[in-house]
Amino acid sequence: MKIAVFSAQPYDRQFLDEANEQLFSSKGSNETSFELIYHNSPLSLETAPLAAGASAVCAFVNDQLDAATLSSLHANGTRAILLRCAGFNNVDLGAAERLNLFVANVPAYSPEAVAEYAVALLLTLNRRTHRAFNRVREGNFNLNGLMGFTVHGKTVGIVGTGKIGLATARILKGFGCRLLAYDPFTVPAFKELGEYVDLDTLLSESDVVSLHCPLMESTRNLINSTTLAKIKQGAILVNTSRGGLIDTPAVITALKERRLGGLALDVYDQESSLFYLDRSSEIIHDDYFSRLMTFPNVIMTGHQGFFTVEALREISEVTLRNMEAFATGTPCKNDLVGGKGVLSPRP
Ligand code: NAD
Repeated sequence: MKIAVFSAQPYDRQFLDEANEQLFSSKGSNETSFELIYHNSPLSLETAPLAAGASAVCAFVNDQLDAATLSSLHANGTRAILLRCAGFNNVDLGAAERLNLFVANVPAYSPEAVAEYAVALLLTLNRRTHRAFNRVREGNFNLNGLMGFTVHGKTVGIVGTGKIGLATARILKGFGCRLLAYDPFTVPAFKELGEYVDLDTLLSESDVVSLHCPLMESTRNLINSTTLAKIKQGAILVNTSRGGLIDTPAVITALKERRLGGLALDVYDQESSLFYLDRSSEIIHDDYFSRLMTFPNVIMTGHQGFFTVEALREISEVTLRNMEAFATGTPCKNDLVGGKGVLSPRP
């Protein structure tokens, strides 16, 4: 059974090939492994024909799975969409349901990996280790401009106490922080670490705000000029969730006005036209991105919070187990729409 893997990087090939081999060797049967066909290009309406003849498409965070692309994939025989990520904001689930497509994600593959990364970004930005590293390499041991604050005792606001938000809260509890959280659905595990408050209180009292809620229509531009006006003067904002949670022009204004003390991003609203490729010889046309890069108190990385050996192994294994469930018609707990495709014998 063929799976067309889009946005495939060398590490995707390595971990998916290993998982494919392991899945079938563990069965000890004559069953053949899935046929994985790798495409470097991202998935879009233009590249969808590359999947012709593949029962399934394996996609990543910036692949476009809008209604038109899904229809094109379906017309060429694709019946399953395997997301090798947790977020599914790039998939038109309504269109997938109408086309009776099977769509599955990997909901939890090491929330600690992303949580650790969020804290790494916070510590880097706060203590300027990225700047110190470059200075020392140049023989410059001057400390001016490198001063941070002690994280111990500070108030951190966690927006979204799901798997990653909770893991981040646990780490920061160990740092000795006071923890506040906002989430429409509270969980008892966070109540042992800190206090739930409304979003306005969280923004006005937190020295650090870390975003961990999913991108949905209701959370798009959650951080905008109105919410930024409520944020504590000089607070640091960390976003390892999805770029669309932040209104970029508004955040640039808040940085220029020094209302925001710092911004640490692993995700960016317009990342699909930038991330995961070497663009160092290109002219970048995104002026908001370019402006962000001029601030001394902004750091950005290219969506790598998930990027650990453990997470990649888990992502690959679960992705192929999702495919196996689809192919054999067995219930899949990661099924996002209940689509049955045509391969499944399920009623
Ligand atoms: P999760 O589903 O376990 O938790 C999300 C939480 O957000 C839930 O508790 C939910 O109730 C809450 N929420 C929903 N709407 C909210 C709102 N308006 N305000 C506050 N909270 C709200 O998800 P997770 O596994 O913790 O992942 C969180 C996000 O992290 C994902 O949606 C994904 O976008 C992102 N992510 C990023 C990376 C990376 O590499 N940077 C990797 C994995 C996931």
